[in-house]
Amino acid sequence: MQTVKIIGGGLAGAEAAYRLAKNGIKVKLYDIKPNKFTPAHQSEKYAELVCSNSLKSNDVYGNAAGLLKEEMRMLGSLIIEAADKTKVAAGNALAVDREKFSEYITEKLCAENNIERITEEVTDVNLDEYTIVASGPLTTQSLSDKIMQMVGGGLYFYDASAPIIDFESIDMEHAFFGDRYDKGNGDHINCPMNKEEYEAFISALSTAEKAKLHGFENTAVFEGCMPIEVMAARGHDTLRFGPLKPVGLTDPKTGRWAYACLQLRREDADGNMYNMVGFQTNLLWGEQKRVFSLIPALKNAEYHRYGVMHRNTFINSPKVLCEDYSLKNHGKVFFAGQITGVEGYVESAASGLMAAIYCERKIKNKKSVTVSDNTVLGALAKYITTENKDFQPMNANFGILPPLNRIIRDKAQRKREQAERSLSKISEFIKEINND
Ligand SMILES: Cc1cc2nc3c(=O)[nH]c(=O)nc-3n(C[C@H](O)[C@H](O)[C@H](O)COP(=O)(O)OP(=O)(O)OC[C@H]3O[C@@H](n4cnc5c(N)ncnc54)[C@H](O)[C@@H]3O)c2cc1C
Repeated sequence: MQTVKIIGGGLAGAEAAYRLAKNGIKVKLYDIKPNKFTPAHQSEKYAELVCSNSLKSNDVYGNAAGLLKEEMRMLGSLIIEAADKTKVAAGNALAVDREKFSEYITEKLCAENNIERITEEVTDVNLDEYTIVASGPLTTQSLSDKIMQMVGGGLYFYDASAPIIDFESIDMEHAFFGDRYDKGNGDHINCPMNKEEYEAFISALSTAEKAKLHGFENTAVFEGCMPIEVMAARGHDTLRFGPLKPVGLTDPKTGRWAYACLQLRREDADGNMYNMVGFQTNLLWGEQKRVFSLIPALKNAEYHRYGVMHRNTFINSPKVLCEDYSLKNHGKVFFAGQITGVEGYVESAASGLMAAIYCERKIKNKKSVTVSDNTVLGALAKYITTENKDFQPMNANFGILPPLNRIIRDKAQRKREQAERSLSKISEFIKEINND
């Protein structure tokens, strides 16, 4: 039996390894951890969440991220199974206890006899060996150089993460529990600011010192994960319409919405840690402490982790990748995860799942199939492999799904029907791959 080499045990690599092993394929799973870590990884476990602990919406019929999760659940995704088992309260979102999440996945991978786990930095790709390259946006330099040589140059953007705060250090005299418009279980902590406090905060933020990032000035930041200091530079009130949006958050002390309000989301099941929602940043760590202490509830905040920012590398998938995630010129080599230009934890895992399904079929000489682009799984693969002069990373969203064959004006109804169509296509796909 063929062996598949998987480079990287992150979201995509862990998902791919499990799928292949469960289907009788031997896997060699390589990761540099725990001998070495990329600048954003810290844990020794597989499938580490490097920033937020939220896997975004769990709403199957109203949100494409929720629909993608359901498609993956139907296909037996390990990542979604782990998220469902380790979730923490977060309203409509699927947020997890990151330690338990990675631990669950690591235990599952360690229990698989078909998986050999190797701690090693891979620096080359053998084009004649079945391989899934899932080394992520922070692929080590030597491998990244090799890949870029192989596929003819790479693309990049910058991604930032938000700080995590110790619960006990939050001043609850200046904060309150509750969700926006009371939609949820009241799990968020809200940190209100009045006009003077907001102005002092914006003024300190605009002059705070940033960490040096070579080439940053010349490049785009990912719009969906923009550092607050970049957002603030776009206008005095930009943050009040973004992560400091006060609408729908009634302060029980005043009975009113504040001038600005930061939300904190629970990080772990026990509620010991909270992350600053939408507060990804590239400020120097000391500056984060100084500037964020101007938010009254965070005056004495203690940080479990400060925000960081990194360059994310991805390949020019429209040029080099087929819809089954294999290289156009080297059919045994597959790519999966953020390095393909899908963006996000779940999207990365999704591409790992699909690459593994297609790789297994190739090894077993089964008919070549790809999942319908009426599904989020298929639409993402189609998006990243369709010609595009300004190729940028893509999240799950309804915009990439083809329209329905009739016009429905009501947006919620339209999404529901697109979701129903998608789930029925996944059922057909499952029958197709199980029947040969
Ligand atoms: C700073 C930052 C913050 C992010 N925040 C979010 C967020 O909040 N929400 C979200 O949805 N997405 C976020 N992302 C984007 C993305 O979803 C994650 O990066 C996700 O982990 C990508 O999954 P992956 O499997 O492609 O790569 P990873 O999960 O990064 O896994 C890659 C693995 O490969 C290993 N590796 C690297 N090089 C080698 C090598 N040469 N040999 C062997 N092993 C190697 C690494 O150690 C790692 O374990 C963020 C990304 C970054 C960089």
